[in-house]
Amino acid sequence: MPNEVVVARPQVEVGDSAFTIAQRQFDMAAEYLPQYPKGIMAKLRVPERELTVNFPVRMDSGDIQMFTGYRVQHSTVRGPAKGGIRFHPGVTLDEVKALAMWMAWKTAVVGIPYGGAKGGVICDPKQMSIHEVERLTRRYTSEISIIIGPESDIPAPDVNTNAQTMAWFMDTYSMGTGYTVPAVVTGKPLDLGGSVGRNEATARGCQFTIRRAAKRLGLNLAEATVAVQGYGNAGNIAARLLHADGATIVAVSDSKGGIYNPKGFDPDAVLRWKHETGSVVGFEGTDKVTNAELLELPCDVLVPAALEKQLTRYNADRVRARIVGEAANGPTEPEADAVFHDKGIFVIPDILANAGGVTVSYFEWVQDLQFLFWDEEEVNKRLEQVMNRAFDEVINIAEQKKVNNRIAAYILSIDRVARATMLRGIYP
Ligand code: NAD
Repeated sequence: MPNEVVVARPQVEVGDSAFTIAQRQFDMAAEYLPQYPKGIMAKLRVPERELTVNFPVRMDSGDIQMFTGYRVQHSTVRGPAKGGIRFHPGVTLDEVKALAMWMAWKTAVVGIPYGGAKGGVICDPKQMSIHEVERLTRRYTSEISIIIGPESDIPAPDVNTNAQTMAWFMDTYSMGTGYTVPAVVTGKPLDLGGSVGRNEATARGCQFTIRRAAKRLGLNLAEATVAVQGYGNAGNIAARLLHADGATIVAVSDSKGGIYNPKGFDPDAVLRWKHETGSVVGFEGTDKVTNAELLELPCDVLVPAALEKQLTRYNADRVRARIVGEAANGPTEPEADAVFHDKGIFVIPDILANAGGVTVSYFEWVQDLQFLFWDEEEVNKRLEQVMNRAFDEVINIAEQKKVNNRIAAYILSIDRVARATMLRGIYP
């Protein structure tokens, strides 16, 4: 069966921008949707709105410093735009556009009534005081508030932003309206209308899809070995949840390097060690490995949960896992997908594997709008239903159309957005 699968091999040049990669992935999937007019597909491969804001922030020294930020709405066809806000020195408009496009497909693949968006500010919050970060957050919120709102575009945390950032965002927006608007952002603290289960949701969604994949492959998770790159929110919770499923965690890493013990170790103890020392490296009974070596270790399940472009044409043929569950966004270059297919590695693509986060963000928004809150059991039960349904829909398309799982996820989501676009029609 796998030999019959047609694997598209896009020509990605070294240094291709994230948005170029996102558009090429779109084009590959669009070929399987010939029923839509070319003009509709042309609309879907570019963002609806790109807002650039240049704004001043008063620093603790009293100096005024200028910052540049972005908010890109890729699609609002199926509902309000939705996507995180990133504070990082490497933020570019191109990257924000790619991340916004991926959000549009992610919300569609799990069938939640949102479009896709992303925001970012070029800054290094690690070099700023908490007061400077607060003033930056509030001014950026104010600058982009012309396109933000609980019915139009709902931000969330991303790299270097967290529940506190969302609290400042919500407070600033609410000062403008004159009343409290919890549903304007998700990922808030529980005391301000956050949802139980949101913190674990990305990793839990990833766990549900890995369970489903393992079942298909006849792999017993209780006998499986797992390597996780990245030990932050997505990575460390994924490692601990899979460990609770009986899996043996053999390797994990963070930005300072990785640790390996083929016999396994306790991921909770590693988390305590990381809190004490600042890194997973040096944990008792483990050997040190580099982040690159971790990806090539013998294991059944590999969970990239750190950065983009980790699995490339240069290392893909040395990956030995049977399942790659993409907790991170964009960890695999398109050409590595083709190699994985040839090797029979089962990839759970990012827009499916890590969609648990945005799904519980949606639950948070629904609860905020109703002022009625669910317990954690309810949140997790609904999340499992959403993830399992999306997983099965993607795999059915992969089998029917004889494409790899990533293209299948794109076909499913682009089809949903294109169909909604056709139903709405072209204004005026
Ligand atoms: P995080 O900041 O909590 O953790 C990131 C981890 O990656 C940290 O352990 C960090 O040390 C590690 N890291 C940084 N540079 C590294 C490097 N060069 N090599 C190896 N590890 C490195 O971030 P997170 O929220 O866990 O996000 C991780 C990935 O998951 C990102 O791609 C993010 O977009 C994606 N994601 C997260 C969520 C979510 O809800 N948290 C949702 C969807 C997707």
